[in-house]
Order: sequence, then C-alpha cells, then structure tokens
Amino acid sequence: MNIILFGPPGAGKGTQAQQIVNKYNYFQLSTGDLLRDEVKRNTDLGKQIEEKISKGNFVSDEIVNELLKKTIKDLKFRDRIIFDGYPRTIEQSKNLDIILKEFDEKIDLIISLHVPREIIEKRIEGRLICEKCNTTLNKFFNEEEIKMHPCGADRFIKRKDDNSETLMNRYDIYTQTTKPVIDFLSQKSFFHEIDGTLKISEITNKINTFLNV
Ligand code: AMP
Repeated sequence: MNIILFGPPGAGKGTQAQQIVNKYNYFQLSTGDLLRDEVKRNTDLGKQIEEKISKGNFVSDEIVNELLKKTIKDLKFRDRIIFDGYPRTIEQSKNLDIILKEFDEKIDLIISLHVPREIIEKRIEGRLICEKCNTTLNKFFNEEEIKMHPCGADRFIKRKDDNSETLMNRYDIYTQTTKPVIDFLSQKSFFHEIDGTLKISEITNKINTFLNV
C-alpha cells in the first residue's frame, strides 16, 4: 500500500510518518530530503537545486520526477512508500500517477492531517521544556502534567528554538499551495482527513485502521 501524507508544519506529520515506518516497515520518501541530499553531493544538479530551495521556490518537475523515479523503481520499497512533500501541485499529482503506472504501482491511501491555524499558533507559543530532563510540554494543553512533573513545575522554560514567525509563515504557504491539491485529491474514495488536534495515539489508531484493512 503506497500512502500520501499531507499535513502543515506543526501538525505531527513527522510523528505519524515515523510510526508507520517503524510498525509497518515503510519508507518515507520526502522530496525535500531527496533534494537536500543532492545539494550535499555538490553536483551540477545539486547547485541548480540549491538556487531554487534557497529562494523558497519550487524545484522543477523534471528534476523532482527524476529523483522520485530512482526510489520508486527500487523494488525494496515496492508498495511501502509514504510520500511526504509530494505532490505539491495538481500537475505533480498527475505526474505521480503516470510515474507509478510506469512501475505498475499506485496510491492506495491518502491521509491529510488538519489542524487549524490558531491551534498551531498555540502549539508553538505554548511549548515549554524542562531544563532538567528535557521533557517538552505545552502550557495551554498540559497544565496538569506540568504541575505534577517530577522535576518541578518551575523547571519549565520556553523552548529557545521556536521561531514562531517562520513556522507560521510556512503554515500559510502550505495552506495556499497544497489546498488545491488536497481539494483535487479529496474526491478519491481512499482520501481521509484526520483531525490533527486529537491525541497523538488517537491519530495513530485511526491511521492504523486504514493500514490494517
Ligand atoms: P520540504 O522539506 O518538503 O519543506 O521542502 C524543502 C524545499 O524543497 C521546498 O521549499 C522546495 O524548494 C523543494 N521541494 C520539496 N518538495 C518539492 C516538490 N514536490 N516540488 C518542488 N519543490 C520541492
């Protein structure tokens, strides 16, 4: 079963993808990672890619498709791919069908994690870290856990790495660019939107019911 996983930054897509990878032995195909790997190799192609990525522009379909094909044709990933960061446009969605057909594969499941903007904002703004044991909790959502924390509630400090402006900006770009793709794909019978504000384990259970059929 090949899967497309959609979700804005901060929706918990990484957490859910990881559980699918571990439990069902899947391969997470992130086009962003594939492109960054190419940049690291410092090839001519890598240089072209870097120019696009650094400006926040999309890399051309021609390049992305070639990188995708390399993974899709690898038999060890057959029917075990989670597409992450692809497709980002309707054109890419059509391309994906064509590429998969070429290798006699298809998409069987599409999951879109939906989290409203104001919740993402609270998730980012409320993140606290215990300076002693590094546990991360949220002042808006984990009031009780913070109070009962063994290291003491006063040990929680604001996480330094949170750059809320950049994250919210990425959220807005995600919504603008992927909404048409999600609307287009939501007509498929195997498209499922999941409420990303549920508990992590509840989301995992829902995803697993789709995978266990
Ligand atoms: P990501 O790690 O998914 O946020 O992707 C990082 C960057 O890689 C994006 O900002 C784009 O420049 C490029 N990129 C990733 N996926 C795609 C794609 N499907 N099509 C075009 N460019 C992409």
